[in-house]
Amino acid sequence: MNKKFKVPYNYLPYEFKSNNQIFKEWKKLIKSTEFTLGPYIEKFEKLFSKYINTKYSFATNNGTDALILSLRALNIGKGDEVITVTNSFYATAGAIVAVGAKPVFIDCDDRYQIDTSLIENSITKKTKLIIPVHWGGASPNMRKIMQIAKKNKIDVIEDACMGIGGKIFNKSPGTFGKINAFSMHPLKSLNVMGDGGVVSTNNKNIADWIKKYRNHGMVDRDHIDFWGVNVRMQPLQAIVAIEGLKKINQIIKIRNRNAKILDSGLKKNHPNIVIPGRVPENLETFSLYMILCKKRDQLKNYLIKKGIEVKIHYPIPLHLQKASKNLNYKKGNLPVSEYQANHLITLPVHQYLTIKQLKYMIKVINDFYK
Ligand SMILES: *Cc1c(COP(=O)(O)O)cnc(C)c1O
Repeated sequence: MNKKFKVPYNYLPYEFKSNNQIFKEWKKLIKSTEFTLGPYIEKFEKLFSKYINTKYSFATNNGTDALILSLRALNIGKGDEVITVTNSFYATAGAIVAVGAKPVFIDCDDRYQIDTSLIENSITKKTKLIIPVHWGGASPNMRKIMQIAKKNKIDVIEDACMGIGGKIFNKSPGTFGKINAFSMHPLKSLNVMGDGGVVSTNNKNIADWIKKYRNHGMVDRDHIDFWGVNVRMQPLQAIVAIEGLKKINQIIKIRNRNAKILDSGLKKNHPNIVIPGRVPENLETFSLYMILCKKRDQLKNYLIKKGIEVKIHYPIPLHLQKASKNLNYKKGNLPVSEYQANHLITLPVHQYLTIKQLKYMIKVINDFYK
């Protein structure tokens, strides 16, 4: 257990405190020695498809590989432009660059999601794709994005890495785009004990291609149809993911309850704090609970001193990273994201927080601004 913080950010010691069922299944797996692909992977993929309501899912190494696989499946590469957000984890843009394409960053709205009113202005003859991100576990306006994509004849791959278990008008994140990517990294909504990811699609041709590409292009042991890669998930992790799926809805329910408590407790701090807009059609996963606040860096230090483990996701937007220098962005190009990068703070919201810990957090923040 984390003794250092009164309100720890890291919930994994609690999440993986009791693993009897996982150990039981691991023993069976070890006995069977089916250590690559095999029945546990297939079982997980079926359960996952059912859970998000999609036709085909394939378990991958991690979410980054899931994104790269999705891009390759649509033949995105050199000379292509891909529209995405600047306020995301590195992997969203990293995957675009990995296949040789160029990320085109656009700004976000007051919910930290892609600003759909800016998408069409960024579409050029080279634009092949939009990658909207379900950032923090909230969702962008997917209906609008799909309309824009259709009108301009470009595809959509959702980066739903933080979106497993969310809903948009009762549809799951990662069921709008042509192919979609998910992560099961330990700090997302569905956790494995290490790395894990999923790609999903409703398109049979794409599914057939991904299934082979993920496994060297193999049709059977002695034949390949084309050159592929190995980005298979470990069956050991599939067992953890299967257990995770049993409790994910409950986890998201508690995170939503915690977020509500924080929202209403912190509202009193207006105008020092801005809580992002919440829209009723979006069930958020609250992978991250982010607010904008004045004197952010002082607040961060104060909270840490008071035993509250907070984070910043992230202090430098993608377009201002050194890695982006050839893309020729300047400070001031994407002002909303830049403002947010300087003002946002991520508070613990996880399912193991007590009401007392939540109230303590609210009180300490209120005291800071007194
Ligand atoms: C975590 C994350 C990824 C990468 O997933 P990994 O499993 O860590 O490779 C990509 N995009 C977003 C938005 C993420 O949060």
